Amino acid sequence: MKDRCSMVRRREKKTKIICTIGPATLNLKTIRRMYEAGMDAIRINTAHGDFNQYKEIINITREVGEIPVIMDIKGPEIRTRIKSSREARVGDVIVAGIGDEELNFSYNLYDEVDLGDKILVDNGAVGLKVVKKEKGKLYLQVFYGGIIENNKGVNIPHKRINAPSLSQKDLEVIEFSKENDAEFIALSFTRDANDLKNLSTKIGTGEQAVIAKIENYDGVKNIAEIIEESDAIMVARGDLGVEIDYEKVPVIQKDIIRRCNQLGKVVITATQMLESMVNNPTPTRAEASDVANAILDGSDAVMLSGETSIGKYPVECVEMMTKIAREAERMVASKIEMNGYINISQTVSKSINLIANSMPIDKIVTITRSGYTARMIARFRLKQPIIAVTDNEMVKRQLEIIYGVEPVHIKYREARDIIYNTAQILKEKKLIEDKDNVLFTAGIRTGQPHESNLIEIHKIADLLGVSLSK
Ligand code: PGA
Ligand code: MN
Repeated sequence: MKDRCSMVRRREKKTKIICTIGPATLNLKTIRRMYEAGMDAIRINTAHGDFNQYKEIINITREVGEIPVIMDIKGPEIRTRIKSSREARVGDVIVAGIGDEELNFSYNLYDEVDLGDKILVDNGAVGLKVVKKEKGKLYLQVFYGGIIENNKGVNIPHKRINAPSLSQKDLEVIEFSKENDAEFIALSFTRDANDLKNLSTKIGTGEQAVIAKIENYDGVKNIAEIIEESDAIMVARGDLGVEIDYEKVPVIQKDIIRRCNQLGKVVITATQMLESMVNNPTPTRAEASDVANAILDGSDAVMLSGETSIGKYPVECVEMMTKIAREAERMVASKIEMNGYINISQTVSKSINLIANSMPIDKIVTITRSGYTARMIARFRLKQPIIAVTDNEMVKRQLEIIYGVEPVHIKYREARDIIYNTAQILKEKKLIEDKDNVLFTAGIRTGQPHESNLIEIHKIADLLGVSLSK
């Protein structure tokens, strides 16, 4: 019953919606309503909360549906550490350090910053300039006044900060993710491929897929090697806007999405998509356009942050995104160029694109172990749904964040005639019907990963030997 309902709901759109869960949404009723409104994955931002809360969020999510959990670790993110909020007035000089100064940071910036550097607090709400460095203390003059609170994000624009890529808490979250079968780990402030290799080493034999969050200068500069090394990319516009410049974010967003689409890497656009809905039941026209444009750019998924973690209208946000997505999807077209030979699956996906655009095909079924072929087909942004069948339950849930993909877990009873077998099971599950023309792809008689080497096209009634009564 649960499964059927989710399938009906999911067919309504191709774009995936990721929701950050927080105090505003941490209860079964709200998470269920968000799921029913079109939520496809949840994110836990580990800058906040504790392990008991994370556990509760995961338990509720598992009860609601088969959607993945993204554990967002903070990597080299820096935050304020102060006992009580304080006002910073323009012109004030604040003494900062890592012990018990007026203002403390979660990482020692003393050797990282130079005189004249800017340090921005809370998304740039408070601006500080380094005017003096002495005996391990930084003297910071306020140029943008405001309130400095505890645990707020700190950005040092245009600067590489050598903070360790994983904090003690991150390491604990990684262990927690493995113990609780979280599907994804998202690494904040990914700077290069090394940060990701370091994370992979810590994940070890865990099956968690990795999302690299691009949110500073280094991440943008090293984007090619980062895409290569990760399973998915998030354009994390919140910090990106502060670390680089507001005006550069839209172009960076388009560039990253284009690169990901080209290579068939999952790409997520995040932050402030429906920001005004934190307090209002409807978005601004600009926000509605932003969501649609991110989808038209080629995003697999769009993400909600404050809107669903602390906002007043979390369910309305998901409903709104679903509506915007459905409209935008009518115009989505693939912009990828494919020249030359890479591997068999890539070539087969290219042929599937050609076939699906030149004859009546209702559905595409890919039988895939790792999900690789599903991603390769999805990047063409075909109008037909892609049913991705896998025998691995973890992979099945990881496939939920790909544009246009409906993952299905099948435990095969026998390996003989896998196409026939799959068709039978999908028909039982009501995912395909007798009248459908279905394109199947799979890797047959190949032990190699990334080898979908077969395409078969069948009318289901003919394949299963059913007569269609008119
Ligand atoms: P955050 O990341 O919400 O974890 O900061 C997203 C962003 O910076 O856009
Ligand atoms: Mn961020």
